[in-house]
Amino acid sequence: MKNWKTRLKKGIYKLKNILSGKSQITNRLKFHALIGSIASVHVFLLVIFGIFRVMPLFYFNIFSVFTYAFCFWLMRGEREHYLAIYFITYLEVLLHSFAATICLGWKFGFAQYIIAIIPVGFYICYTLDIKRRKFVIATVFAIFAAAAFLTCKFISFFVDPAVVLDNIALELSLYVFNALCAFTFLILFSLVFIFEIKLSSNQLKHQNAILDKLASTDPLTGLYNRRSMDVFLSQAVETDSNFALIMCDIDDFKKVNDTYGHDFGDVVLKGVASITAEQVKGQGYVCRWGGEEILILLNNASEESSFRIAENIRRNVANHVFDLNEKWIHCSLTLGIAMHNSKEAVEDTITRADYNLYCGKRNGKNAVVL
Ligand code: GH3
Ligand code: MG
Ligand code: MG
Repeated sequence: MKNWKTRLKKGIYKLKNILSGKSQITNRLKFHALIGSIASVHVFLLVIFGIFRVMPLFYFNIFSVFTYAFCFWLMRGEREHYLAIYFITYLEVLLHSFAATICLGWKFGFAQYIIAIIPVGFYICYTLDIKRRKFVIATVFAIFAAAAFLTCKFISFFVDPAVVLDNIALELSLYVFNALCAFTFLILFSLVFIFEIKLSSNQLKHQNAILDKLASTDPLTGLYNRRSMDVFLSQAVETDSNFALIMCDIDDFKKVNDTYGHDFGDVVLKGVASITAEQVKGQGYVCRWGGEEILILLNNASEESSFRIAENIRRNVANHVFDLNEKWIHCSLTLGIAMHNSKEAVEDTITRADYNLYCGKRNGKNAVVL
């Protein structure tokens, strides 16, 4: 009893995850659901044929139930005979439709199951990742199914039903039952297909976002890389007539590396990058231009606003204390600003920013030069 309760809880939990697109429907679950529901339909038909004494179909349905029990057996443990299970299901559905049409005629609607099995074939060949010719397999199965459907119609046209059931109510009820089952299969498989497409497109979007981030940022500092900056610079040249570039370089960084080690140098670099990004936030782009050089692109900038931002960055870096095993270390940054002139190439603006940075270095560092 407890076992069933925990299983039920697990099942509901799984279903919730699947519906919310968090987890994928496993092939195991799909096939258990498919075989389970087809087997239930046969158990129901078995009872009906037993009650109304349609003995050939009664025996056929006993055979069907055993067939699906065998399919369940094939799915025990880690076994994955899903394609074989689909072949068996496909054959059983076709044979059952033939048998029912020969016994009771066309009017009971048993041939409808043949239509319902077609999308299942495409779905299974697609999701099972059958390596070669998966669409050929599914299409051939679909064509055979169509031929079998029409054959059933011809049989009913030329051959009288073997068993005559003079019961209009039963005829109508079985027709409706068969139609409902066939449509339910069609609807459910279409829904499962849609859910899986949605799930894989979500996964793809997520992976693309990760790849985009990896391709456009620098892994150490998290700033944009040079490749991204090239794109931002071209955009700025096309759309923004007032942009400024600020080239920044950490002062005496070689000494920092040599004195405290390369790892601590990385910590300083990350700290400076984060201070810079914080000050520029929403006003442009910050990229790691080279080793410990940072290039800032400020959109819609004036000389005053660029100078103010650069000065804030310089002051914040200079005031920041880097902690190395209880030792407090200060670093500084020199920044060179250049306003873009629409008549010059952006490379020339970069050279001017670089030149201003060089002037700042030569005049004692820890400075902003416009
Ligand atoms: P200056 O004040 O003139 O800029 O002197 P500097 O010592 O900083 O000279 P320079 O800018 O030429 O130094 C660059 C150094 O930055 C050399 C290199 O070892 C170091 N560096 C470059 N990339 C990294 C990095 O990713 N991590 C660390 N720790 N050091 C780096
Ligand atoms: Mg330097
Ligand atoms: Mg440098």
